[in-house]
Amino acid sequence: MTSRGNRALNPIHVVGGGLAGSEAAWQIAAQGLAVVLHEMRPLRMTEAHQTDQLAELVCSNSFRSDDAETNAVGLLHAEMRLAGSLIMREADANQVPAGGALAVDRGGFSAAVHQAIENHPLIEVRREEVAGLPPADWDNVIVATGPLTSAPLADAIRALTGEASLAFFDAIAPIVHRDSIDMNVAWFQSRYDKQGPGGSGADYINCPLTSEQYEAFIAALLAGGKTEFREWETNTPYFDGCLPIEVMAERGPETLRHGPMKPVGLTDPRNPLVKPYGIVQLRQDNKLGTLYNMVGFQTKLKHAEQVRIFRTIPGLERAEFARLGGLHRNTFLNSPVLLDGELRLRAAPRLRFAGQMTGCEGYVESAGVGLLAGRFAAAQARGASLTAPPPTTALGALLGHITGGHIETIDAGPRSFQPMNVNFGLFPPLASTPKAPDGKRLRGPEKALAKKRALTSRALSDFRGWIEACGAREVAA
Ligand SMILES: Cc1cc2nc3c(=O)[nH]c(=O)nc-3n(C[C@H](O)[C@H](O)[C@H](O)COP(=O)(O)OP(=O)(O)OC[C@H]3O[C@@H](n4cnc5c(N)ncnc54)[C@H](O)[C@@H]3O)c2cc1C
Repeated sequence: MTSRGNRALNPIHVVGGGLAGSEAAWQIAAQGLAVVLHEMRPLRMTEAHQTDQLAELVCSNSFRSDDAETNAVGLLHAEMRLAGSLIMREADANQVPAGGALAVDRGGFSAAVHQAIENHPLIEVRREEVAGLPPADWDNVIVATGPLTSAPLADAIRALTGEASLAFFDAIAPIVHRDSIDMNVAWFQSRYDKQGPGGSGADYINCPLTSEQYEAFIAALLAGGKTEFREWETNTPYFDGCLPIEVMAERGPETLRHGPMKPVGLTDPRNPLVKPYGIVQLRQDNKLGTLYNMVGFQTKLKHAEQVRIFRTIPGLERAEFARLGGLHRNTFLNSPVLLDGELRLRAAPRLRFAGQMTGCEGYVESAGVGLLAGRFAAAQARGASLTAPPPTTALGALLGHITGGHIETIDAGPRSFQPMNVNFGLFPPLASTPKAPDGKRLRGPEKALAKKRALTSRALSDFRGWIEACGAREVAA
């Protein structure tokens, strides 16, 4: 170990050897610092894990698109490779054919991560459940226990944060890219033009339905393919009593019209004398104003069915979804309120969080936040500070979403921060719209593609700069 005085005597503790915890431990050890990784399996299993391997993939074997030029998760792959990610190294080494996606041999991938961690001389793996707050003498801790965090630890964190709940049946409503909504059909207005705290009176996007459109929509919801609950999911309560829209529709065709689709207090400016029969509202979801969530539209319709059925809503015919709806048990923090910019719990800064607990979604994102947490923790142990990656990068955009980019609900509703995959809606807009090589304006799909290319090229250039600066600081520390 590279000794740096007494600081080096205290190992950094990582709780949870999943995607995030394994990556965090690797990043810390790569900087010459000692780590203890605490993993409760196989002594105590979760409802979804099947093995005792570190970095087990609980469901699909896909790391999604590997296209770093036009896809946000592909860009995240590229940034993580540049940062020496163990998860990406072993995903690449255990790749199976999957078109443009990076899919892995599930067993081979976990075994390789497991071996790399077990064989690292600076990492000690302890098979134990951390069944409460970590001991007070652990002064630099990363909690990466994931969506299925064991109950005693979740309860202790909940008590510390004062949150009403940490684990619940998580109802996720779809999120739409603002620039894919047809504003020739939809309009901005808050119900009864109410301004509310921080509102303008025109904060929602409204999509109107006639009675025929509404009836067809209800029929499609009832007929649409649904995801089945796993047995263990049936024991977890709904978050804030939110019901999926298709469950509401089953209670009667008018139920949604008296719930999330109620048309009162809203006037279509293009047709002011005719009241829409039903209205779908979308609410701004990030500070940039690039993403809007469909209010009250939590659903367990299958993803392809959601796209098909929601595109029948007037104004959403060409909607692009940053995230689709879903329901599953989840444990995550209200991070924009509870964590600081370095992922530390404001109420107890010795505890840093990583992975899905912080409000990212997905294997790659969880490992990415683990990578950042590991680097922040290592810098702290060295008595140095680490500047976060720029918000123009995938890792920076994800960190921004978790620690500050989300806006709280503007109508005093339930807590609105929800886990999210990385997507271009989280990135700051480009300074100028890309043009064709001959200087002409681009349109349609060509324009969308050029924008994505410009965003990824800006991201990779900024990320390389950040990595170089990190390297220089590490040498100097
Ligand atoms: C049912 C289900 C299906 C999913 N399917 C997908 C999918 O198909 N694709 C996708 O990208 N994402 C999927 N996800 C999301 C997925 O969980 C995350 O993407 C990812 O695994 C989260 O990484 P993590 O490191 O935060 O948590 P995990 O990978 O779950 O790791 C957490 C680790 O902490 C351990 N642990 C928990 N509590 C304690 C404790 N008190 N003490 C010590 N150890 C503890 C657990 O045993 C586990 O090993 C799914 C999630 C669930 C719940």
